[in-house]
Amino acid sequence: MARTVVIGAGMGAMAAAARLAVAGHRVTVYERARTHGGAVRRLEREGFGFDTGPGLLYLPAVWRDLFVKTGREPLEECVTLTEVDPAVRHVFADGTSVLLPGGSRAGTVDALDTALGAGAGERWSELLSRGRRAWEATRRPLLEEPLTDAGDRARLDADPYPAPRRGLLRRRAPFLSEIARAELRDPRLVALLESHALAHGLDPRRAPASAAVLPYLEQTFGAWYVGGGMRALADAVYQRCLARGVEFRFGTAVSRITVEGGRAAGVELADGSRVAADTVVCGIDPRPMYGGRASAADGGPGYAAGRLTVLLALRGARPGGTVHRTVVHTAGPGGTARTVTVLRPGDPALVPGAECESAVLSVAVPPHRAGAAGPSSGGAGAGSEDGGAVDWTAPGAAERAADEALAAADTAGLGLGGRVLWREVRTPADTERETGAPGGAVPAPALAGADGAFLRAANSTGTAGLYRVGGSAHPGGGLAHTGMSGALAAGLIVEGDDWRGSR
Ligand SMILES: Cc1cc2nc3c(=O)[nH]c(=O)nc-3n(C[C@H](O)[C@H](O)[C@H](O)COP(=O)(O)OP(=O)(O)OC[C@H]3O[C@@H](n4cnc5c(N)ncnc54)[C@H](O)[C@@H]3O)c2cc1C
Repeated sequence: MARTVVIGAGMGAMAAAARLAVAGHRVTVYERARTHGGAVRRLEREGFGFDTGPGLLYLPAVWRDLFVKTGREPLEECVTLTEVDPAVRHVFADGTSVLLPGGSRAGTVDALDTALGAGAGERWSELLSRGRRAWEATRRPLLEEPLTDAGDRARLDADPYPAPRRGLLRRRAPFLSEIARAELRDPRLVALLESHALAHGLDPRRAPASAAVLPYLEQTFGAWYVGGGMRALADAVYQRCLARGVEFRFGTAVSRITVEGGRAAGVELADGSRVAADTVVCGIDPRPMYGGRASAADGGPGYAAGRLTVLLALRGARPGGTVHRTVVHTAGPGGTARTVTVLRPGDPALVPGAECESAVLSVAVPPHRAGAAGPSSGGAGAGSEDGGAVDWTAPGAAERAADEALAAADTAGLGLGGRVLWREVRTPADTERETGAPGGAVPAPALAGADGAFLRAANSTGTAGLYRVGGSAHPGGGLAHTGMSGALAAGLIVEGDDWRGSR
């Protein structure tokens, strides 16, 4: 029986572990924390519950597939999945707001026409059609196939977004903010498109136009909530791993991957002991394992942002008609676009009683580096100009940024500030402490274009028997993408390095 060691119990790692166990591997997961799930955690206090990591799931098919391939009970029998509908309310900087329905293109067109004026819906719809073409052109290599050699990467260098090339843009592919301005011609529609990049920590001024696949995917496949909070998904995946015989060693950090004769031979643990293995699956950024420097800025322009989250325990019942997700558009540092996402799930499992509400604000922010400058006012934007880090442990830094996020939400009319019983503020420094991700960065999904700058490291490595999964590996971050990284690495291990993905 092949012995497989998996480093970390994050979502990508557990997805690989369950699949490999089903394929007959003896799988042991070494996790330095006391629990599974990585970034997918829950904070419980005084009867309130909060997702401290992801609050919504996109492309649930990835996790449905894992449950189908690894056992009898489908995902829906293990967790309660509900499509968020209405999908989102956007409140723009000029005070206009629009409520977008879930999964209905026609409904979206109508809502945009009503809120922003005739023609707005059609312009949005046409842009998303081009997003669909970009998606169809790159879906397999970008999400469903392993990225194994230079040839694979070259296929994704060019931006598949079919932007008309005019003026300056004849010479180079446009950025997302450029197609937004050229094709949408309304600052609120521009903000709507850019918000999809900002939500993933991408700067729309630097992200390739192919980032238009992000709103296309959300509109087509929906945004989903897991009953009881997203942690329930991590619990279900963990239970599935246990049911398939995966062993977990918690509180056990891996300090090094051992390589013998050019092949991964196992791992060395923090206590100096060694574990031999035929295959090693690395569910974390592997550079520190080789003594390599791993800073949040190392991974390219799509890699650097982290998240500031403000967990709000609110007095008073959730008002009738409250929507699950509100995106508030404000200005960040230097007038850059900034969004504050407000999640108000209305899930009785997250409150001590009906006279309370649990809400989470989140903002993409620069990653953490101890000793760097604290964030400037408005520093809760989508990353600083140079993509540099800030020190989120500097006195008052986190609280100031939380105040700004809450003020933005209240300016948009959410009325949360006056209802706060207590709050907890979490920054990239917390993410770094809990997951080990350098700077607490949350990698975005991989994107095609920009000469491959937004791709991640391949799942196979130059070392035989060593594979990468998780947000720092292909196809990038986000729950669905990390789930795919597990599927792709398991496929390569079971079928061999020539495997080109499931057909
Ligand atoms: C605040 C926040 C909000 C987010 N919102 C969303 C969202 O709404 N939707 C969405 O899809 N995604 C979202 N994400 C991203 C999503 O959570 C991640 O992409 C995904 O969970 C990362 O999984 P991973 O497999 O890379 O593992 P990670 O979560 O990075 O976990 C890595 C694990 O490895 C362990 N580890 C680290 N070093 C070692 C070592 N040396 N030895 C042993 N174990 C080690 C860590 O303790 C950790 O458990 C969010 C993330 C954050 C932080």
